[in-house]
Amino acid sequence: MNRLWVRLTLAFVVVTLMAVVAIAWLADSSANNEFRQYLARQDVLTQSGLLDDLGAFYQQKGNWIGVGEIISNFDAPLGRGRGQGGGRNRPPILLADAQGNVVYDERNLRLGTTLGSAERDLAQLVKLNGNVVGYLVLGQAGRSSLSAVEQSFLDQLRVTLTIAGGIAILLGVVLGLLISRTIAAPLSSVAQAARKFASHDWSQRVKVQGADEIADVAREFNEMADELERAEIQRRNLMADIAHELRTPLTVLQGNLSAMLDGIYPLERAEIATLYDETRLLKRLVDDLRELALADAGQLQLNPQTVDIAKTLRDAVTNFSIAADTEQVHLDIQTPEVLMGVADPERLAQVIRNLMANALRHTPPNGSIHLSAQVEDKLIRVSVSDTGEGIAPEDLARVFERFYRSDKSRARASGGTGLGLAITKAWVETMGGQIQVSSELGRGSCFSFTVPRWV
Ligand code: ADP
Repeated sequence: MNRLWVRLTLAFVVVTLMAVVAIAWLADSSANNEFRQYLARQDVLTQSGLLDDLGAFYQQKGNWIGVGEIISNFDAPLGRGRGQGGGRNRPPILLADAQGNVVYDERNLRLGTTLGSAERDLAQLVKLNGNVVGYLVLGQAGRSSLSAVEQSFLDQLRVTLTIAGGIAILLGVVLGLLISRTIAAPLSSVAQAARKFASHDWSQRVKVQGADEIADVAREFNEMADELERAEIQRRNLMADIAHELRTPLTVLQGNLSAMLDGIYPLERAEIATLYDETRLLKRLVDDLRELALADAGQLQLNPQTVDIAKTLRDAVTNFSIAADTEQVHLDIQTPEVLMGVADPERLAQVIRNLMANALRHTPPNGSIHLSAQVEDKLIRVSVSDTGEGIAPEDLARVFERFYRSDKSRARASGGTGLGLAITKAWVETMGGQIQVSSELGRGSCFSFTVPRWV
């Protein structure tokens, strides 16, 4: 009962049947009305005394010659029928003798003809001492025989409507089945795919077919499936990466500690310092992961305020100057004196620090790092560019991904977790900006991000 095809079929059948029943009812009620009017007229006629007058006339004369005078003077309120009786308030009257021969017709159409048996059945009888001496027909000449035609027409109509009703039911079933198939089939294929998808069959997609709305559902399902599959792959990769990243320092720690316990390594300060470095790396990794988890949950806590971005950049240059000198990398900065933006000062400093640390890590001695900031409509664009090793085009799109390192062994050796740029991106976006990178292998890279301008 709840199935689509059953509902559609029922709807079609009900609608067509209702139409058929309505037509039958209208046809019937109009026929009934006419018949009721006819009977009412006969009643009035009976009560009007015309039949008695005619009976008296016949008794007096013994025939119907001259009866016209009585009839034409007769004017009872019988309603205006078809073919009215000489402008009177009644339909025309026709009189036949005992044999059914028409002896008087107000419209002079049937004089000399004989009434049919159907006409006689419907006629009013003029009686004298219990014998029929005449038939009085009210209405259009031949009206009663027309009623018979109408009656048979009505009967015919009823039969036709019954057949039409049957055909309607059949058609309803066929149409309902056809239409519901075109609607239900694609929908149930979406439902089936969704069920399989729910049981982790990520490859499920559906064919886009059917009416626009249904094709839309299929299209949206496929897009959702793509998105979920991508998310699932990312989740798996992330889990594998986390496990891998945690495993390396833990293995080093475990191996070294066990060697110390076994007396293979001496319990010296330098050895312990190496192990301590590994724990620091682990701590950093866990902190970074926590920060990314918060970013995913949309729970990075911001403390936005108006910040002089030019000053933040100058401070960063000051903080990095010793490290840059050690690496023999030249640092320079180009910004207006004051540049007010809206950001969380600590997070902004962290973003700049990450980008500068990366630039320093990937720029060889005698290279340079250039910081700049300028207004761009309602934003401030901050750029950190270097003359370092650059990033290969195939890596460029992936540098913001978690755990992505173009040179894995070297990056880890230098303390990189592969999460720095992912965290940087999360903070920039949380502050309402965007981050981009452009780079040329062997010539250098330029990371730039935006911050809302304070207006
Ligand atoms: P990591 O902690 O390893 O530095 P990041 O997320 O900060 O991780 O960076 C991801 C990768 O992007 C790095 O491993 C490095 O290969 C590349 N990268 C980042 N910044 C630069 C840069 N300025 N020049 C060249 N490569 C860079």
